Amino acid sequence: MLKRIWKDPVGSKVIAVGILGVLSLIYAKIISVSDDITFSEAYERIFEIKIRLIYVVGGIFLFLLFKRIFTKKKGYYSSKQKKLREFNKTTDPNTDIMFRWGVYFDYDTPFISDLTAFCTKHEGPPIRFVNDRCTLRDCENHRNRIDLHMVKNLIESDLIDRWEKIK
Ligand SMILES: [Zn+2]
Repeated sequence: MLKRIWKDPVGSKVIAVGILGVLSLIYAKIISVSDDITFSEAYERIFEIKIRLIYVVGGIFLFLLFKRIFTKKKGYYSSKQKKLREFNKTTDPNTDIMFRWGVYFDYDTPFISDLTAFCTKHEGPPIRFVNDRCTLRDCENHRNRIDLHMVKNLIESDLIDRWEKIK
């Protein structure tokens, strides 16, 4: 029974307050005896301490609440930026090479990072390039190395153009 009440969020707080109440009564009794003051004076003294404690706890609670509100952003990217970020892969129809990348922003200019090429000339999942070429020796894309810097520049040029249009 008591265990069930303790697990209940409201019940546990009531019990906690009750225990604190009983403890402060006992503490008031001890102080009144040791400091040779009346029980009510001792209780008032504890009550003042309690009020101060409530202020401190309340202050901490408010601080955490505000911190949470102000650090909770709506999302790092704006909706237009998110839209542009969706353009993150393309396949060259002439070579069947697929490129994947991530779109980021340098202030307001889009740029790409983690540009990776994959060969789609084979069955199964696209094969990632190693050393700028397909890893399968008998593949056309194994013989011709790609220039990732050039591809990067082409994609970024395209992105900047798209960005200008949706802005
Ligand atoms: Zn290949």
